[in-house]
Amino acid sequence: MEVLYKSTRSDSRPITASRAILQGLSDDGGLFVPLTIPALDHSLEDFASMSYQETAYQVMKLLLTDYTEEELRGCINRAYDAKFDIPEITRLHRTSDAWYLELYHGATIAFKDMALSILPHLMITAAKKNNEDKEIVILTATSGDTGKAALAGFAGVEGTKIIVFYPKDGVSSIQEKQMVTQKGDNTCVIGIRGNFDDAQNGVKKIFTDEKMKADLAAAGYQFSSANSINIGRLVPQIVYYVYSYGRLLKDQVIQAGDPVNFVVPTGNFGNILAAYYARQMGLPVGKLICASNSNKVLYDFFQTGAYDRNREFILTSSPSMDILISSNLERLIYHVAGNDAAVNAGLMKDLTQKGVYTVTDAMRKQMEIFYGGYADEAATAAQIRKIFEKDGYVLDPHTAVASAVYDTYLEETGDRTPAVIDFTASPFKFERAVMQALGRPSDLSDLDLADALSKVSGDAVPAAVEGLRTAEIRHKIVCEKDAMAEEVRKFLGL
Ligand SMILES: *Cc1c(COP(=O)(O)O)cnc(C)c1O
Repeated sequence: MEVLYKSTRSDSRPITASRAILQGLSDDGGLFVPLTIPALDHSLEDFASMSYQETAYQVMKLLLTDYTEEELRGCINRAYDAKFDIPEITRLHRTSDAWYLELYHGATIAFKDMALSILPHLMITAAKKNNEDKEIVILTATSGDTGKAALAGFAGVEGTKIIVFYPKDGVSSIQEKQMVTQKGDNTCVIGIRGNFDDAQNGVKKIFTDEKMKADLAAAGYQFSSANSINIGRLVPQIVYYVYSYGRLLKDQVIQAGDPVNFVVPTGNFGNILAAYYARQMGLPVGKLICASNSNKVLYDFFQTGAYDRNREFILTSSPSMDILISSNLERLIYHVAGNDAAVNAGLMKDLTQKGVYTVTDAMRKQMEIFYGGYADEAATAAQIRKIFEKDGYVLDPHTAVASAVYDTYLEETGDRTPAVIDFTASPFKFERAVMQALGRPSDLSDLDLADALSKVSGDAVPAAVEGLRTAEIRHKIVCEKDAMAEEVRKFLGL
């Protein structure tokens, strides 16, 4: 059955998956959502014996229905290959209380690789299918990990250019080094004086600027997005929820049909939304545990039904979750409003104008499978230490937030349903915070510190960090948050 996509903010004409991926964001500022959510068409037992790549095909074919089998399998095979440092692409690690789903085995050692290693292929295929002759310009705001994963995915890809904006003082030192050393003539990396929300808002503004769009078209370009607002990021993320369920089945931890809880360290709400879609497609999901750091807008939202961004923005040791406007929540709001674009558009208008919106009790009722929790900086550091001492396993700060929230959840509910915790970044990416939490603070240089962490954890320094030893800094631009559009024009020669 063909699945088409429409905007969350108006009843726009439905478009194909490949068109939605090319476009990224709807013209009215809304996000593309599927008109219907298809059901998995294999038994759960079938997934227990599938490879990651096969699972990816069986899940993605249901949502990206205008791609042929050959096209989709081609994209999957080019994405999930030796760029990942384990052949199974992702794996579960069992500790005393839970299963950690290691999603950081890709080229840039964060879970963003799971989707961003395939997005460029989905996009070029989409351009070909739709006879699009314009060059695609990927415009991306990053809280640290999307930027590098998108750069790695798009660097050198013919017919594309990529521009990444990151908060100059809001990413880890390794994250910044990874981005500013990016090779490829089609890449551009810019630091902004502002936080992630400023970067994301700036990008959304450029996207919807009519004059910009016209100038762009005249120069033979069109924008698209590599942020998780692009449905081409979301769909590949559904895969690992189905895959991990299959692994638990295979290991006889569960029987087909048993529920599994998923614990997700959350920022822009993309990763956990993918788990929600997996559930809507028929995966037996118990609770979706949404873990926030000190920027606990989502925790408050699940407590009260009011989404309120009017608060101080806090820089934490888990910068990829330092977000006050979780873009993908809009998709959930749209669905729980009964797929009502007008209701959703009204709430989003409130968010823009007043910084706050409140959902109805009926909508809250539909979100009961979500449990919100948060961990502050002290709890995050304590959790890194606790899991290391108890299980000999070193977590990164994002995963530690999730792990701490899961402990609270267990205490509060006693719910012993098997739980999968998304492990979203290699600890080497956030080594300073990790070593500090382990009681080994240090003023060693980034790369010496990586060696020290390697001794503690027993894991080799990942290639993505090794490579930074000799990498040349190629991107030096820093701009004010109001000057983003100007920088885009400069890079593209508009
Ligand atoms: C992006 C990111 C998150 C948050 O994921 P969302 O999809 O934005 O909610 C969590 N942890 C890490 C390491 C990330 O890079």
